[in-house]
Amino acid sequence: MGAFAYVAPQSVDDVVAALGAADRAQVIAGGTDLLVQMRSVDREPRTIVDIKSLAETNRLDIGDDEVYVGAAVSSALMNENEALCNLLPGVTEAGDLIGSTQIQGRATICGNLCNASPAGDSIPALIAAGAICDIANANGGRELPVDEFVTGVGTNALEPGEFLLGVKIPRPAAHSRDAYLRFIPRTEMDIAVAGCGVSVTLDDDGTCTAARVAIGAVAPTAILVPAAADALIGGKLDEAALQAAGEACTAASSPITDKRGTAEYRRKVVAVLCRRAAEIAGQRARGA
Ligand SMILES: Cc1cc2nc3c(=O)[nH]c(=O)nc-3n(C[C@H](O)[C@H](O)[C@H](O)COP(=O)(O)OP(=O)(O)OC[C@H]3O[C@@H](n4cnc5c(N)ncnc54)[C@H](O)[C@@H]3O)c2cc1C
Repeated sequence: MGAFAYVAPQSVDDVVAALGAADRAQVIAGGTDLLVQMRSVDREPRTIVDIKSLAETNRLDIGDDEVYVGAAVSSALMNENEALCNLLPGVTEAGDLIGSTQIQGRATICGNLCNASPAGDSIPALIAAGAICDIANANGGRELPVDEFVTGVGTNALEPGEFLLGVKIPRPAAHSRDAYLRFIPRTEMDIAVAGCGVSVTLDDDGTCTAARVAIGAVAPTAILVPAAADALIGGKLDEAALQAAGEACTAASSPITDKRGTAEYRRKVVAVLCRRAAEIAGQRARGA
């Protein structure tokens, strides 16, 4: 591993100052991506800025209007929170798929988002849930929808001196719920060949009145698929609607071929995942 300095600021302002002070500064949350990268692909020296000492990054609040997940909250902590799992089962099940129990004790969904892997599991789930990035900087901060945050493979919209403080997720209304599914070639500890997050809102009659569908691992970034949502809205999530939504996901994807699967295979799998995730989200919404 390359040489590094380590600082653990105690306030948001001090994190921003530390990020601006060093020639090369990099945030560490759980370190489950960062340390692997520092041991292998990028051994250049840097200052590591630990954000885990801040009250703001450790927030996990379920409010009347929104849920806030701070950038230091591990996916294990999220999954131990029963109320959160009931409200946002898609987001929490995405976190529950990241690595092993040991990895989940460290890994954060915000780190997953900042790392910006095309196959990052929490990203389609957060996009489907309508999450907003809460970004800290020297100018009082800014917000950005998660679907605009990842800009390419391994890149994100953070400017120098900025870091992700947490994500805000609109609190799902009655009869609204989400789901996330991925497919991997093994039973666990692998990265997605394809993934799909879906959130739906139903009326009292069971008609879908709102939906968001996002796909992962089938394009350079996770993407929102409005055409898939349109296929679900206005009907009762019947077979024809699910089929059309799946086809819209296939049409929106632009996957690569690699050792985990061919592009053609990924296009088919993402449609199946969309159909199944929409069905699960619908079942959950009916019971919510
Ligand atoms: C064995 C193993 C299995 C894995 N399995 C999966 C899997 O199944 N699915 C999956 O999606 N991922 C998987 N991962 C990858 C990794 O665990 C996740 O991406 C994890 O969510 C990263 O979170 P972290 O808090 O550890 O991020 P870190 O490693 O701390 O950070 C990751 C990157 O984001 C930056 N960063 C982190 N937080 C912030 C912030 N708040 N503001 C600005 N920049 C920030 C860091 O500088 C770094 O570049 C696996 C990793 C390992 C080692």
